[in-house]
Amino acid sequence: MIFGRHINKYYLHYAPMLLLGTAALFMVDFLQLIIPNLYQMVINGMNRGVAEVNGQILAFDRSFLLDRICMPMVGIILAIVVGRFLWRVMFFGAAIRVEAQLRNEMFDNARRLSCEYYQVNKVGNLMSLFTNDLDTVQECFGWGIMMFLDTLLMGVLAIAKMWRMDPVLTLLSLIPMAFLLASATIVGRYMMIKWDARQEAFSKLSDFSQESFSGIAVIKAFVKEAKELMAFKALNLENEKANIDHTRASVLLRILVTMFVESVICVILGYGGYLVFQGRFNAGELVEFIGYFNAVVWPITAVSELIDMTSRGKASLERISELLDAGPVVRDRQDALELQNPQGGIRFQSLTFRYPDGEQNVLTDITAEIAPGEQVGLVGKTGSGKTTLVDLLLRTYNVEDGMIFLDGKDINSLTIKSVRNAFAYVPQDSFLFSDTIARNIAFCMPEDPIPREIENAAKMADVDDNIRDFASGYETVLGERGITVSGGQKQRISIARALMKNAPVLVLDDSVSAVDSRTEKVILQNLREIRKGKTTILIAHRISTIQQMDKILYLENGHLAAAGSHRHLMESCPGYRRMVELQQLEEEGGESHV
Ligand code: ADP
Repeated sequence: MIFGRHINKYYLHYAPMLLLGTAALFMVDFLQLIIPNLYQMVINGMNRGVAEVNGQILAFDRSFLLDRICMPMVGIILAIVVGRFLWRVMFFGAAIRVEAQLRNEMFDNARRLSCEYYQVNKVGNLMSLFTNDLDTVQECFGWGIMMFLDTLLMGVLAIAKMWRMDPVLTLLSLIPMAFLLASATIVGRYMMIKWDARQEAFSKLSDFSQESFSGIAVIKAFVKEAKELMAFKALNLENEKANIDHTRASVLLRILVTMFVESVICVILGYGGYLVFQGRFNAGELVEFIGYFNAVVWPITAVSELIDMTSRGKASLERISELLDAGPVVRDRQDALELQNPQGGIRFQSLTFRYPDGEQNVLTDITAEIAPGEQVGLVGKTGSGKTTLVDLLLRTYNVEDGMIFLDGKDINSLTIKSVRNAFAYVPQDSFLFSDTIARNIAFCMPEDPIPREIENAAKMADVDDNIRDFASGYETVLGERGITVSGGQKQRISIARALMKNAPVLVLDDSVSAVDSRTEKVILQNLREIRKGKTTILIAHRISTIQQMDKILYLENGHLAAAGSHRHLMESCPGYRRMVELQQLEEEGGESHV
């Protein structure tokens, strides 16, 4: 049984199922405790030739055995089977539903979180929350409730019956149980710490595996398989140690349970035998008492399981709660307005930005204006802050008020959704889903789009021919049976996806770097035509890519070194000129080598 802010509500939600399960469990426990009394009647009947039922003395014969022992026994067994089936369906059914609902809640919150969260929490760690931790919580809910109630019901019923037979013998039997509970609580705490360490180690291992599989091409290209294996072995060893530590504590608890249970049997046989010797108990009654004690052995054993399970469940629920409690760092203000009819006008006003975990400013005092419909190139060396600048436009990180304006409105005063809706973005590492190419291109469309529109977008991104070359064309499922696309094709499919959105502002972050110069020319020409009157921001390394743009913003170490047309920059900005000349030299060098 497990409690916590994120799980308590489910006890209420599934109260009818849990109550029905409890009733079935109570019936099973009650019926199980009738059986020791039947043993007593049989043993005493065999010894004396008569049996005592509710103060009545009856002959111990065939009809007694049939009517008073066998028939009730068959009835009890059948009722127990039905009862066990019922509580299993109720408790485990509720637990599975809770797991599914928690998973939905987790996914729902995860999709709301800002990019920052995903930079700190790796995918492997998140995956273990959705698998391992959620499984543990589910187990704790279903088995946990059952074990807790069974321990309570069976314990109380059996101890009451034992007490009625002989209070002193019952008390003597309970002394070792008190020791058991005390030691189990201490070991349980220790186990929770060990479980936490175990889950941590497992997360690290799955993080590493996930990253290794994703980067397998790089590992192979650098012949670093052996290094990876060594690193994996080290993490696996850490995981193994954490598992052993937890299992050790778990085994210790089980040994303690067995030891205390056996010592109770010693007490019963010793003191109970003495009572028989004194004539206060007969043989049948001693067997009946042992029968009741046997019935509480499982609930007592369950105490250790319960403590083990609860400690694991608590640790897992805490980890899950961290995800559920995490809030987006970038969020709408209460008075945020919708951006109506966006035109694509952008203004940066003394924009200065430092990453939340960064030590220095990545962008410093940037002031620039992009008029609606303008085609803008963004250039600068790697690390000069180009991607950061467009990320800030999309509100991936928080910026101070009065630094970025969209259509004259501070982006902080607008809803994140309406700002992002105004943009179509092709990120640097264009990601495609394991779905058909058509659905990848139509990702932004709310309903099934017309195939012609998808094909048009693909044509504009100059990838239509490539797609048609696949046996299934636009219905080709990426990632299935090893079907992958080249870097250039991936970039162009991503461009097609962004074009489908037909947003007021299109941002392409180094999106034609993997295509040849002929294809690049075609795409740029198409962009000029279809984006006429709409703002386009193109981040590029090759000057040839942005040469024709209306305006070029040239960044140097996070500063806006110059802004204007290519010709203007060539005349006025030595840094820009140097970069152009360097690229020309490289190109000429490259050509002379060919
Ligand atoms: P560019 O796109 O021009 O190559 P970026 O905008 O990607 O440059 O990066 C600018 C600087 O910001 C770099 O020094 C980079 O290391 C740093 N940077 C980028 N992303 C992060 C981040 N998430 N956290 C901290 N620093 C970052």
